[in-house]
Amino acid sequence: MPRYGIPEYRLPYEMLDRDIDVITSLGVKIETNTRVGSDISMDQLHTDYDAVVLAIGLHLGRSTRIPGAEHKQVCKAVDLLRNITDGDKFKLPKQAVVIGGGNVAMDIARSLARLQKQKFGGVKVTVTALEDRAHFLADPVEIKECSEEGIEIFDARGPQECIIEKGKLKGLRTWKVRSIFDEQGRFAPAYDESDELIHEGDMIIEAIGQMSDVSILGEQLTEDLEWNRGRIQVDDNGHTSVEWFWAAGDCVKGPDVVHAVADGHRVAGSIERWLVGRQK
Ligand SMILES: Cc1cc2nc3c(=O)[nH]c(=O)nc-3n(C[C@H](O)[C@H](O)[C@H](O)COP(=O)(O)OP(=O)(O)OC[C@H]3O[C@@H](n4cnc5c(N)ncnc54)[C@H](O)[C@@H]3O)c2cc1C
Repeated sequence: MPRYGIPEYRLPYEMLDRDIDVITSLGVKIETNTRVGSDISMDQLHTDYDAVVLAIGLHLGRSTRIPGAEHKQVCKAVDLLRNITDGDKFKLPKQAVVIGGGNVAMDIARSLARLQKQKFGGVKVTVTALEDRAHFLADPVEIKECSEEGIEIFDARGPQECIIEKGKLKGLRTWKVRSIFDEQGRFAPAYDESDELIHEGDMIIEAIGQMSDVSILGEQLTEDLEWNRGRIQVDDNGHTSVEWFWAAGDCVKGPDVVHAVADGHRVAGSIERWLVGRQK
């Protein structure tokens, strides 16, 4: 994610390469382009190695599932950020609408704005967030810099429909948010339907959170593990309830690179102690 999620204007990839070089110089072997679950199974990893650490991050973008969200011009922020980093060809939207009020929403909005500025000479990016300004999830500096880059931010707007006419995406319909949570504190947005806006756009980007693809664990391991609200339960050192299995980083709790790296250090220490203990 540091390479494909975090935009290069924030984290220069040269610095990332330097860190990776330090790690490989210690003798760590990195097998790239190897997907656990299809190229190699978790069972195989268990057979070939004494200990396995799951650090798969949160790479599946969540969808609003509003009508029209299945249109090909509606995409997930993490997928689009990856396309941008990879230099993949995609049709740069003339007018983009981002759904979400967190840092990922700001990252994709700013990345698109910069590309639009280069290609079209101007910026037409709109961000719509459920939260009102006082409760925005993104860092204040990100919101400020978004506005400075010409991005329009609409707060307290709930997405209702991706408008499609004759197969073409036209924009996003939103209603004013009256409240986001119900009395029990559950996520249950309530809207003022009389306050409707249409945000025009030829691409809509959903930036409403990510999840882990834990399907790669397989049935047996999923059953053997202890879970806490959809996340794998670990002790302070990242050790799971399964003896040979550790988990770390975003797929356990997040939220940032510093915490993921710190998790890595704790897990490495824990595995070393476990391996040494077994040899006695
Ligand atoms: C858009 C965006 C912007 C962010 N900006 C910042 C920021 O400015 N500062 C900050 O500190 N944090 C930021 N973060 C958060 C940060 O990227 C994560 O907290 C951190 O990268 C978590 O590290 P990780 O090792 O747990 O997971 P990741 O960095 O996500 O790494 C997971 C790895 O597992 C691999 N993987 C996944 N599934 C499989 C599989 N089936 N088989 C094999 N490999 C697999 C992935 O390819 C990847 O290499 C941002 C995140 C996003 C999405």
